[in-house]
Amino acid sequence: MTAFDGPLVDRFGRVHRDLRISLTDRCNLRCTYCMPAEGVPWLAKQNILSTDEIERVAGILARLGIIEVRLTGGEPLLRPDLVDVVRRLARIEGDEGQLRVSLTTNGIRLDRIIDDLVAAGLERVNISLDTVRPDRFAELTRRDRVEDVLRGIQAARDSGLRPLKLNTVAMRGVNDDEFCDLLRFAQQHEAELRFIEQMPLDAGHIWSRQRMVPAEEILEKLSAEFRLTPAGDRGSSPAEIHLVDGGPTTVGVIASVSAPFCGSCDRVRITADGQVRNCLFAREESDLSALLRGGADDEQIARMLRTNIEGKRAGHGIDDPGFLQPVRPMSAIGG
Ligand code: SAM
Ligand code: SF4
Repeated sequence: MTAFDGPLVDRFGRVHRDLRISLTDRCNLRCTYCMPAEGVPWLAKQNILSTDEIERVAGILARLGIIEVRLTGGEPLLRPDLVDVVRRLARIEGDEGQLRVSLTTNGIRLDRIIDDLVAAGLERVNISLDTVRPDRFAELTRRDRVEDVLRGIQAARDSGLRPLKLNTVAMRGVNDDEFCDLLRFAQQHEAELRFIEQMPLDAGHIWSRQRMVPAEEILEKLSAEFRLTPAGDRGSSPAEIHLVDGGPTTVGVIASVSAPFCGSCDRVRITADGQVRNCLFAREESDLSALLRGGADDEQIARMLRTNIEGKRAGHGIDDPGFLQPVRPMSAIGG
């Protein structure tokens, strides 16, 4: 029996098919729920996985049953060789053909690069958008760049990649009066909007349940202006999807905190500095980088990946009395 026999499965029977790779911890925004305003403890450049290393581990994970790769960060568009990363990952063969490669981005600079990304094999893009109001955007991200983001969204729309998804972190007193406007904006841009409950992943560790807007309240606010009807079974998707005014537009709510989807989680994450995390909230990491750089063979790496997944907890435990927020902020984990 080799480490490549059978799917990547944990103690609870969850088969892992979805890989998130963080390409950098750097970012051109400073969203309050993700990064500190200043004094970011950047990862050392020499510790960031090279594209050869990323390609190798993605190949190993494809042999273990991974079929989908989402590139994230920090801001993945800041990685100078992003197009090459996409090209190399998109030609890896998995159980269901070539790996499906998608990207989560804040949209800045997307207009300049999207055609090359599509040509390289990018299949889908998610763009984060918490507000369309310039003053609010500047306050929330600490950078005055909403116009750049809007240009990125337009470019993604023009590229023809579908579904085009927009992600909004719902925050009380910050953007909770803008949910309907955001949904209208998404409709106008042929995009699917997904609201995400804010999770305790901020650099300042000031997350509070009171400031988070729970899924139920998000739906209630949207229902004031839209007719929402549940759109069937969500499968392993974390979002609960609703048809908007009878469809075809949909809106989703990801209740990561109030109704976690840990029971069907099929994700494994690799940080930009080559640490394997089986959960956003994992307390332990496995040092993939040390193996890659220490001359380990594919079998040894596959065994380590298996052991990491076997140790995955049943859930994120945000509600447990002993819950500890991860030491890394979201930007250094990879959302
Ligand atoms: N920079 C890219 C972006 O913003 O899309 C990719 C990385 S970002 C960490 C990935 C996603 O995580 C974004 O949609 C962002 O809104 C979300 N995110 C960051 N911090 C979060 C938090 N504390 N709670 C919920 N979502 C968060
Ligand atoms: Fe940057 Fe994305 Fe984090 Fe905002 S959410 S600071 S855009 S990594």
